[in-house]
Amino acid sequence: MKILFVASELYPLVKTGGLADVAGSLPKALRELDKDVRVLLPAYQDVKAQLPRARTVAELEVLGQPVRLLADHVPGTAIPLWLLDAPHWFDRPGNPYLAPDGNPWPDNDERFAALCWAGLQIALDRAGLGWRPDVVHGNDWQTGLIPALLSLEPQRPATVFTIHNLAYQGIFPAASLEKLRIPKALWHPEGLEFHHQISFIKGGIVYADRINTVSPTYAREIQTPRFGCGLEGVLKMRSERLSGILNGIDIDKWNPATDPWLPQPYDRDSLDDKGVNKRALQERFGLPQEPIIPLIAFIGRLVSQKGVDLILKALPGLLELPLQFVFLGSGDSDYEHGLLYWSRRHPDKVAVHIGYDETLSHQIEAGADLFLMPSRFEPCGLNQMYSQRYGTIPVVHRTGGLADTVEDALPDRLPRATGLGFDHTETGALQEAVKRGWLLYSQPDLWRTLQRNGMDKDFSWRRSAKEYCRLYLKAIADRRHA
Ligand code: ADP
Repeated sequence: MKILFVASELYPLVKTGGLADVAGSLPKALRELDKDVRVLLPAYQDVKAQLPRARTVAELEVLGQPVRLLADHVPGTAIPLWLLDAPHWFDRPGNPYLAPDGNPWPDNDERFAALCWAGLQIALDRAGLGWRPDVVHGNDWQTGLIPALLSLEPQRPATVFTIHNLAYQGIFPAASLEKLRIPKALWHPEGLEFHHQISFIKGGIVYADRINTVSPTYAREIQTPRFGCGLEGVLKMRSERLSGILNGIDIDKWNPATDPWLPQPYDRDSLDDKGVNKRALQERFGLPQEPIIPLIAFIGRLVSQKGVDLILKALPGLLELPLQFVFLGSGDSDYEHGLLYWSRRHPDKVAVHIGYDETLSHQIEAGADLFLMPSRFEPCGLNQMYSQRYGTIPVVHRTGGLADTVEDALPDRLPRATGLGFDHTETGALQEAVKRGWLLYSQPDLWRTLQRNGMDKDFSWRRSAKEYCRLYLKAIADRRHA
C-alpha cells in the first residue's frame, strides 16, 4: 500500500502541538508494517536549515507561482520526505502559523492552499515523481482542501482526513476563493462554505472517504453541540465514515525500566523500586518523605481545557486528607498564582514548579502514586498513557481519549482496572474520585493489580498504525464503490 501523508508539522523538525508527534511517529510505524509511506511538509525556514542536503526533485506551478519539491528523509528514518519549497510562503522564521506579533500570517489561506494544491499534484502523479499513492492522508485544516480538490478528479486515490484539533478550522473570507483557485463546484453550504466563509477543515470533513479523530469517544463527542465547535451537524451527517483511532506513545522514551532520567528504574516486577523515585521527588520538592502518604501529580498546560480551575476548587477539601500534590506546568497566570498560593499555604502538602521541564515530567510520572487529569475535553491525551506505563494510577474525567484509555476501578471491574474516572466536571465528583484512589492505595494487593494492569497495556504506535492500515483499506473500498 502506498500512502502520501501530508502535515503542516512533524517532530523533530517543526512542532507546535500533538499533530507533530503523530506525524513524527505514525509514518515510522507504518513503514515498520512494510507500507510505502511518504511525507509532504512545507519547507519552513527552520526545516530547511535542518535538512541542508535536501535536493530539488521537481518544479511545479502552484497558484500561479513557481515552486520546487525538495527530497530528503524524515530524520532518523528511511521514509522519503518531500518539502514544498516556496520561499515567498514558507521562508519565514519561528512558528509555522503565526507572525512574530502573535497573529496568524495574513496569507495563511494561500500558504496552506498551496500545500494542498501541491499535494494534489503528487497524489495524481502530476509532479513528475513517478509515484502514485493509493491513499492520501491529510491532517487538520491545513490539508483540508486536498480531499475537496481531489473529489473532482475521476482518477484519484482514496482520501483519509484526521482531525487532531477541531478548534482550529482554517476559516477565510469568501473573497479569497479566486486567489486560491477553488473550483465553483466546491462552493456551497454542503461544501466548503461555512457561514459565507471558506472553511478548509470542512473540505476534509465533507469530501474525505474516511474521517477520523484521535480517540473513539472524541469522535462521538464532536457530533454534539458541546464539543462540535459549530461543525457537529456536518460531522453527524458523515458519522458512518467517522471513527476514532487512539494515538500511540513513544514506548522507548517512556519506559520506566530504561528511562535515563529516573533515580531508580523499575518495571512491573520491581514496583517496590518505584518508591525510591517517590522519595527523590518528595526530597526535591521539600515534601515530607512519607512513603504511605499518596502523592498526586499534575503535568500539563495550566488552562481551562485541562480542568485546572476544578483542581483549584477541589484542593481545599482534598487538603483535609493525608495527601501530597506536585504540579508541573505553565499557562494562565490566574491558575499559576492559584497553585502557588496553595503551595505557600501548605508547603508540606503542595509543591509547584511553573515552567516546562521534560526531565522533571519523567521523574514526576515515576515518583507519583496518582495522576490527575480532569480535562473538560481531551481529543486523546498523553499523560494518562505515560502514567499507566509508569505504574501511576490516573484519575480522569471520563471524556475523549481519557475515557478510552483508562479502565475505571468500579467494584465489578477491579481485575481489569487501571485508574479512576468521574463523569461530571464538578468539584465534588473530582474529590470523590481522588478519595476512591486514596482508599485503594491503602489496599496494597489491589493497588499492585491496578498498577500492573496499566503497565501491561499496549500503547504502542504499532497498534495505532495497524488500525490506520484498516482505515486506509476502508477508504480504498469506499473510493472504489463511490
Ligand atoms: P496537550 O497536547 O493538549 O497539551 P497532551 O496530554 O496530549 O496535552 O500532551 C501534552 C504533552 O506535553 C505531554 O507529553 C506532557 O507531558 C507535556 N507537557 C505539558 N506541559 C508540560 C510541562 N510543563 N513540562 C513538561 N512536559 C509538559
